Amino acid sequence: MENDTVSRNFIEQIIDKDLAEGHCETVHTRFPPEPNGYLHIGHAKSILLNYGLAQEYGGLFNMRFDDTNPTKEKAEFVESIKADIKWLGADWEDRLYFASDYFGQMYEAAVKLIKKGKAYVSDLSAEQMREYRGTLTEAGKDDPSRERSVEENLRFFEEMKDGKYQDGEKVLRAKIDMASPNMNMRDPVIYRVAHMTHQNTGDTWCIYPMYDFAHPIEDAIEGITHSICTLEFEDHRPLYDWVVRELEYEKPPKQIEFAKLYLTNVVTGKRYIKKLVEDGIVDGWDDPRLVSIAALRRRGFTPESIKMFVELCGISKSNSSVDYAMLEYCIREDLKLKRARVMAVLDPIKVIIDNYPEDETEYFEVTNNMENEALGTRKVPFTRELYIDREDFMEEPPKKYFRMFPGNEVRLMHAYFVKCESFIKDENGRVVEIHCTYDPASKGGNSPDGRKVKGTIHWVSAKYAKKATVRLYENIVDEELGVYNEDGSLNLNPNSLTVLDQCYVEPSLEKAEAYDSFQFVRQGYFCVDAKDSTPEAMVFNRIVSLKSSYKLPSVQ
Ligand code: ATP
Ligand code: MG
Repeated sequence: MENDTVSRNFIEQIIDKDLAEGHCETVHTRFPPEPNGYLHIGHAKSILLNYGLAQEYGGLFNMRFDDTNPTKEKAEFVESIKADIKWLGADWEDRLYFASDYFGQMYEAAVKLIKKGKAYVSDLSAEQMREYRGTLTEAGKDDPSRERSVEENLRFFEEMKDGKYQDGEKVLRAKIDMASPNMNMRDPVIYRVAHMTHQNTGDTWCIYPMYDFAHPIEDAIEGITHSICTLEFEDHRPLYDWVVRELEYEKPPKQIEFAKLYLTNVVTGKRYIKKLVEDGIVDGWDDPRLVSIAALRRRGFTPESIKMFVELCGISKSNSSVDYAMLEYCIREDLKLKRARVMAVLDPIKVIIDNYPEDETEYFEVTNNMENEALGTRKVPFTRELYIDREDFMEEPPKKYFRMFPGNEVRLMHAYFVKCESFIKDENGRVVEIHCTYDPASKGGNSPDGRKVKGTIHWVSAKYAKKATVRLYENIVDEELGVYNEDGSLNLNPNSLTVLDQCYVEPSLEKAEAYDSFQFVRQGYFCVDAKDSTPEAMVFNRIVSLKSSYKLPSVQ
């Protein structure tokens, strides 16, 4: 392996060993979502892990919809899932599969088990089945149908397939061990009758395989070598192995479990997200406060930032939560050198430069990103009337306030030194206009005579700036305040969304399109909202502020 010096995660160690010992010759992974909702950051971890392993070992990665359960699945989710995975950059090439395409082979596999005396048709109701199952401390009881003959089982199973029975009337069970300490091995149901229309196979089938039976078959059919899933399936692994063994696959796939990714201060539960959408608290599954992949994309996260995040999280066998601030760290790192740094005023006050000619426009050539010259330059217009941010002015400044206040000189970024001479208030005592004079000799923001100013503030030209709406986000829930109320509902942060609709941005942003992002100097990273922004009324989402107290544990 290339990176021998870097410590290898436990999955890589298993794969290394399998390759070395000849259990497999190549690596073939898959991502198997159920098309029953939108993918979220946790799924991104699984996608990038599976795809990353295939790439690392020069193997293959399959995309497979696990659509064996016809009740919950919808075609619209199939499309959103595909789009999200493509956006993340995981490439399944021409290997897009649907588990439902294997229903025929799964049926044959069940017949094979029956013929081997390893499966039987049961007449027990769901309730009886529970009674017979026993408990963690007590062995189960044998199903009265357990010793049915192969012929009888074959006939009943065929009749199940042919629609002779109602839902729940008969099931097919694997014949394993009713006394197993592992409840999953106590003759689990592997096929059930369900008269339902399936989104892919229509009414062809009225029996459907159970997940634990179907999944190993799907993996084996596709030649998956390492079937990676999350920890809750650990107890199901003996059943996975049993299915693969009894069906005598030549190259049995191996199941490996890892811990799910949990994030603090976010909502991932589908039930809760659905409620937030229905109650109009968020504006859809892609509301930028959520962590579905669609939401992260809309907020302005990049595939690279998510990849960095997932890599920093690492792969583990024990469940834990990762701080949301780490995700923010990753997007800041990713955008730092990639995006232009532009000026935007979120809470404007007008500034008039009294000694600047009234109809003049000067264009300053500004470097887009001082740390990355490759991003080039742009021209920023300067005029007599400007806007600055309200928090950059104070009538009576405290000590160490170096921005604008009466009598103080500051630098207007990239432009001139200006000195505040006076200001005007409205009838409510709110400052509405600031009057300044500028020093023509400080052009470009450079000191003409060694004179120093301590504050540099951003601005936009009142004549040329574009009006915009900016949305600021905070976490929708706060772990420290408690995520849930006593009644089980979410304890929502009332400040999770702030809409500023009087903002001004530089005219250079005029041509920005959906998902384009920028650093607004001194304020953070912002992204053009894909749903609501129009060329006439631009809307920007704050991806993340510039500063954070967050320190990455390993990179400080
Ligand atoms: P549900 O079972 O409620 O549908 P799910 O999140 O398990 O939700 P799947 O479509 O079954 O949805 O998941 C697809 C794959 O993503 C599975 O392999 C699953 O283990 C993995 N996965 C799901 N959630 C996470 C998570 N939080 N972290 C890492 N992997 C996850
Ligand atoms: Mg699932």
